[in-house]
Amino acid sequence: MKKADQKFVCNFCNRSFAKETTMARHMCAKKNRWLRRDDRDVKIAYYAFDRFCSKALKTKKEKTYREFCDSSLWGAFVRFGKFFIDNNCVCRYEFYVDWLIKYAVPVDDWNKEQIYLKYLNDYVKVETPDQAVTRTIKLMETWAVETGNDWRKFFDLLSVPMALQMVKWHKLSPWVLFLSDGGKRLLERFSPEQQQLLSSYVDIPYWLKKFQIEKNDVDYFMKLFEKYAL
Ligand SMILES: [Zn+2]
Repeated sequence: MKKADQKFVCNFCNRSFAKETTMARHMCAKKNRWLRRDDRDVKIAYYAFDRFCSKALKTKKEKTYREFCDSSLWGAFVRFGKFFIDNNCVCRYEFYVDWLIKYAVPVDDWNKEQIYLKYLNDYVKVETPDQAVTRTIKLMETWAVETGNDWRKFFDLLSVPMALQMVKWHKLSPWVLFLSDGGKRLLERFSPEQQQLLSSYVDIPYWLKKFQIEKNDVDYFMKLFEKYAL
């Protein structure tokens, strides 16, 4: 038998309850954090938190998930994880986290679009053309499923504003946009204002120079695009 004054205490907020069932049903902010530990955005957030503590704050021990729940940085890191998931970011988040730490970007800014896009512009310059082309082909396949069109019609049916968004977030890579016939047809539909926007999203002189230097890759992919009538 339980003593009358026995209390059940929530491990997260220390609130006490007369009945165990009431405590089990009770919800508080920290318990909610604990229950969200398998969500994708929270997993990225926890990874980033632990990495940030060891690299930026130089803490020796690995942070437990419970420590993350208790941290005042929870919200900022989860916003970062959510940003990454919601925007289908194309880079590896592990690399991006290290970049953010390296440049001492305040954690509150980790979910800012302009910072991610700055990183992305560097990232796409070092990824292999294979990675860039594969990503773009996958994008075209997704587009085909979502719109019910043949994926080879991608460049002809895609609206220019939509294309600009895809270029801005580097889902549509310069490797495909500039080297395929379809990409060239799409570019012909750009107004002067849209061309200006394109230049602000993509470092065009850089890519043209890169294509001159990496002739073998350019030949290989142009033949591939031709084969698939892209
Ligand atoms: Zn509680």
